[in-house]
Amino acid sequence: MCHLNIPLHILNTDQPSPAPTQAEHANKLLDSHGRQIRDLRLSITDRCNVRCVYCMAPDVKYIPKMQLLTLDEYIRLIKISISLGINKLRITGGEPTLYPHLDALLEKVGKLGLKDIALTTNGSQIKKQWATRWKEYGLNRVTVSLDTLRPERKDAITRSKTSLETVIGSIDALRDAGLTPVKVNAVVMRGVNDDEVIDFADFAKEHEVDMRMIEFMPLDAGKRWEKRHVVSANELLERIKTKHEVVRENDSKTSTSMNYRFTSGAGRIGFIASVTESFCGACDRMRMMADGTLRPCLFSDEEWSIRPLLRNGASDDELRQFFRDSLWQKSAGHAMGRDDFKRPDKTMSRIGG
Ligand code: SAM
Repeated sequence: MCHLNIPLHILNTDQPSPAPTQAEHANKLLDSHGRQIRDLRLSITDRCNVRCVYCMAPDVKYIPKMQLLTLDEYIRLIKISISLGINKLRITGGEPTLYPHLDALLEKVGKLGLKDIALTTNGSQIKKQWATRWKEYGLNRVTVSLDTLRPERKDAITRSKTSLETVIGSIDALRDAGLTPVKVNAVVMRGVNDDEVIDFADFAKEHEVDMRMIEFMPLDAGKRWEKRHVVSANELLERIKTKHEVVRENDSKTSTSMNYRFTSGAGRIGFIASVTESFCGACDRMRMMADGTLRPCLFSDEEWSIRPLLRNGASDDELRQFFRDSLWQKSAGHAMGRDDFKRPDKTMSRIGG
């Protein structure tokens, strides 16, 4: 039974067992390990116009349209999450610029008093005037994915024809619109693009962006991930130090990346070491997928759909309780690197990166 005394199977037959009721802290999203959840990663679409080798299958099956939340549903759930202490929002996907109501969504969330609003995109179709308008709405920062600086490689990694110049043009336009720091994400895979590590650092300086190198995680649709493909953050840093002098930044304890500035010039580099150095202890993040599935931990398949309640006339209080019950279940940390690690069933494009 759920907290509403409605058997959950009536609402949604593919629900896992319901979360236990969290007794206290009515206005907070707490987990059973004492962490407060403040950061919502919202995937507004699972659709994407590229098929990165480390992420999406070429013949991916999308969520049926009827199951995708509407703009009003997103806004309602975002407001509810804010009432529970969420103060950071990252809008992601899939590719969020494919979502037809992105502009309206940004305009609305810009008025909700969030401390930080960010967007993650592949930069394949950002217009300069969009960047300026989004900034006016209250968007603070944008992260752009760019895994290679070599045009001939771009097509192979993204399995698409998005041009490198377009993405770099987007990065520059976002920076010039003040959506800073612009973060540029590169998933580094041994034997694929790890010979570009120094070039990535040079790019950070030249374009005055935060270039973040991400350890390849076992979230690829092709299930080809193996530990030997991972280039550790430590190795990446050592390679960069052969050319650049860098100093460690004083990162917040909830930061997903370890960041460094150059001793001379602008730009920064950062490393997301999810595989070799888990940073779960201070994790304050949750994810909501485009169909209203709440997922407390990226690497755990435990998740609960709020859509049935949402579409069956639940009150705000009932939805709030569902959030609290679900997040209470957040696992202490992922088991990557351990023998009992089970790779997640879903890809990052589905969960929301
Ligand atoms: N379409 C947007 C984009 O390209 O940035 C947002 C969605 S994408 C799934 C979000 C982030 O997930 C990207 O920065 C991407 O690099 C990262 N990502 C996807 N699969 C990954 C994997 N297997 N390992 C590490 N990072 C991954």
